[in-house]
Amino acid sequence: MSEKPIHTLSGAIRAGLACRCPRCGQGKVFQGFLALRPRCEVCGLDYGFADSGDGPAVFIMFLAGFIVVGAALITEVVYRPPFWVHAVLWLPLILIVTLGPLRPMKGLMIALQYHHQAAESRFGGGER
Ligand SMILES: [Zn+2]
Repeated sequence: MSEKPIHTLSGAIRAGLACRCPRCGQGKVFQGFLALRPRCEVCGLDYGFADSGDGPAVFIMFLAGFIVVGAALITEVVYRPPFWVHAVLWLPLILIVTLGPLRPMKGLMIALQYHHQAAESRFGGGER
């Protein structure tokens, strides 16, 4: 392995947002839109540890809800447009603010999971 491993939190965050391997920062994490590769093609890190679950979607739902509902309320109160204007404005915005950040957010969660060595709790963890 000739790549320098990432040891800093800022390096892990950069690699995660770029959807790169959390160990080497070079290999791609995804093989589809959200499907993970089995392992890093550069350093060989097994991505079996990665389980971001619903975390990225929950964060994005909060953020997107705040943006879209806030903008829709302000537009309605200030301009009082017909309903078709709301549909034309907010449906594309919903797609942009949900699908756009989903991949980088999942990459970030996986990178932070790797950086902090997060795993499910196990019983009998007294031995080290
Ligand atoms: Zn790697």
